[in-house]
Formats: sequence, C-alpha cells, structure tokens
Amino acid sequence: MNANTDALLARIEDRREELVALTQALVRIPTINPPGDAYEACAHLLGERLQRRGFQVQYLRATGAPGDNDSHPRVNVVARFEGRPGGECVHFNGHLDVVEPGPGWTHDPFAATVVGDRLYGRGSCDMKGGIAASVIAVEALVDAGIPFAGALEISGTVDEESGGYAGVGYLAGLGYFSPPRVHHVIIPEPLGVDRICLGHRGVWWAEVETRGRIAHGSMPFLGDSAIGHMGAFLHRLETDLGPRLRQRRTAVPVEPPGARASTLNVNSVHGGQAEQRFAMDAEGRPVGELPAPLVAHSCRAVLDRRFIAEETLDGVKAEIVAMLDELKRTRPGFDYGVREIMSFLPSATPRDAPVVEATARAIARVLGREPQFIASPGTYDQKHVVRTGRLDQCIAYGPGILDLAHQPDEYVGIEALVHSSQVMALAALQLMGGAGR
Ligand SMILES: [Zn+2]
Repeated sequence: MNANTDALLARIEDRREELVALTQALVRIPTINPPGDAYEACAHLLGERLQRRGFQVQYLRATGAPGDNDSHPRVNVVARFEGRPGGECVHFNGHLDVVEPGPGWTHDPFAATVVGDRLYGRGSCDMKGGIAASVIAVEALVDAGIPFAGALEISGTVDEESGGYAGVGYLAGLGYFSPPRVHHVIIPEPLGVDRICLGHRGVWWAEVETRGRIAHGSMPFLGDSAIGHMGAFLHRLETDLGPRLRQRRTAVPVEPPGARASTLNVNSVHGGQAEQRFAMDAEGRPVGELPAPLVAHSCRAVLDRRFIAEETLDGVKAEIVAMLDELKRTRPGFDYGVREIMSFLPSATPRDAPVVEATARAIARVLGREPQFIASPGTYDQKHVVRTGRLDQCIAYGPGILDLAHQPDEYVGIEALVHSSQVMALAALQLMGGAGR
C-alpha cells in the first residue's frame, strides 16, 4: 500500500456528506416495482451526474421487454470512463427498483431521513446506498488522477426485483456484460461491508395443475375435485419431499445457514372458480359477487424450488414429476400438467478470481479484518451476467444488512456506506493495474 492508496481513502472519507446526499436523492425517487415507477428520472439522476464528471453515458430502454410500455418505460443507464488503453474494465451494477414500502413504517419511506448513523428509506439498504457508494468510489478514483489502464463503468438497471429481464438480462443480451467490453463485475447488493458474495443457489419455478371434472357442488360425487387432487399432492410435498430436502446440505457457505439445505415454497394456489369479491354489509349480509356451487375442474400451484450446487436441475424436476406420476398410478382420477416458468443454475465465482482477491485485499486494508465468503439463498442479477454475459468474474459486495431488505424501516448505516465505497475504489484500482496492489 502506498501514498496513492491513502490519499484515495481520505478522498472518499472527505465525501461522506456527498455520499449521504446522493443516497438520499436516489431514495427520494420512488422507483417502486411493480409497476416500475420513475425509472427514467432515476436513470437520469445518475447519468447526468456522471456525464458532468466526464463519463460517456447511454440510456437504454428495453423496448418490448416484459413490463415496458410508454407509461412505465424500462430505462437503464450505462456510464463509462476510459483510462489508458490496454487494461480491463471494472463494472459496478446496481438495480434502480425497490419493492413497495408495505405497512409498519415509523419513518416516511421516501423521505430518506437521517437519524444518527442510519439513513432510513425504502431502497436505502437494497440497494440505493450501494449504488451511491459505487458512484462516489469511481468519481474519487477518476478525480484522484492516479494513472490506470482500462475502464470504469457504472450501470443503473431496472426490474431486478421482478427477474431483471428488462435490466441486466436485456443489457447482457446486447453484450454489455461480456468481454471485451467488461471483465469484472461488482454488484453492490446489501451483503455487508466485510462479506463477499460469490454466487447463489439455483432456482426452478413451475406451475403444477391438477385436473378434475366440474359438477354441481351439492352433488360432488358426480364430479371429481381438482382441489382434492391438489391437496393430495401438497400433502406429499409436506410429508415426503420436505423431509428429504431438509437433509440435503450444501458445502457452499450460503447465508443465512438455514438456506444451506434445499428448499421448496408454494408461492400460490388457485383452484376452482375465480375468487369472488364479496363483503358483508352492516347487517352481516353478503354483498357483491357471490360464489356458485361448483366442483373444481382445475387447481394450479406455483412452486418455488431452490436447489443447491450438489443437485442438478434435471434431478430437481424429475423428483417432482415422479411424485406426480406415482399419484397418477395410485389415486383414482388424478391427472396433472407441469409448466416451467423459469430456471437458473447455481452460480459460484471462483475463490481465486481477480475480482474476489482484489475485493478481499481491499476489505482487509479498509476494515482491518479478513472477509467472509458467502453465497446467497436467492438469485440476483449475477444470474444474467453468468448465463447471458458468459462472464463468471462477478461478485456481490455492498453496504447494508441483508435482513433489512424489503422490511419496514429499512436503513443503511452511514459508516458502512463510506467503508464500502473505499473498498470498491481500492478493489477497482487494483484490478486496473493502478497503485495499491
Ligand atoms: Zn437488491
């Protein structure tokens, strides 16, 4: 470590107020997804700022992607600063969208109130604090005038909370997350200032439908209830598959440790006729749409199966289908269909990848302790970088406490913002062959 490094860290410490102000400005734009509000304003806040600092800025609307329309345009921003030729590109990617605030807040979710070391607001932790930290990091690097080879990039992308197809997925399809344009990707999701996230478990989403035969609800024996068949399937999930999944443990350090086993969640169940919207009036009489007496001819359940690196996607699908086939053999009238919604394989960036080692050294330098290497229970935009960008040099590293994400009174610690920004700047500098190795 040398004088350049010390000056860079001091430069970021000096920008503490600016870092807080940028996080506040981002939180105050309510980019709620769904439906995808105010993306354009948020992309422009970042783009115009970086353009003033000498970055080349592009706005890329994912026209035609899921969710994109003129009232909710899916606008992404990519900003690039070129150093000397011959080096590699370090890219910081953050998602602009936040989930709805929901109930239970004691602070205005979009006021970005600061109390002590905490900055409160929806998205402060997941992940506008991380975006602001990466912006201050690259600005400090550029302003420091330390010669470096390669390029710095920042992107603000949409829809991570709903799969990222109009965001990183879209840009990856255009080559924005592949060499020779980009070589190292850091996603400042709120994993904690001293933790490096190397990847995530796999996911398989599928809809299972059971089928029956419609009849009058007063004579159910004349029909065959699809809800009854679904009940039998759900019972098997609970009593047969569930215990087996809990025994399958991964060697990958997924956090929290409860997610080091395979898991299955049933996201939703819909059977029979559509849900009626009736209410009770003051006298206790039902008003509005009332249900009709029908035996359910169809019932659908959406499964969210998360699998570990030791499992295969084919195996995950096959064990569900085997249970359904067994029910078909043993339960009179049982019939089913399966529709796959999406799947992603587990991802794991090599422990010795340059982006991992540089970030680990930077954490040790800034915080004076060794990093913890973890993996995430759920997927995030790394899945698109790996699958579509075919780039495995990608980590998640950023400020904030993961458990606070999507909760009421979400906050990010200001000290953590500053420290993570210092780590990001130092890691980027090392990757671009600058001082500080
Ligand atoms: Zn996030």
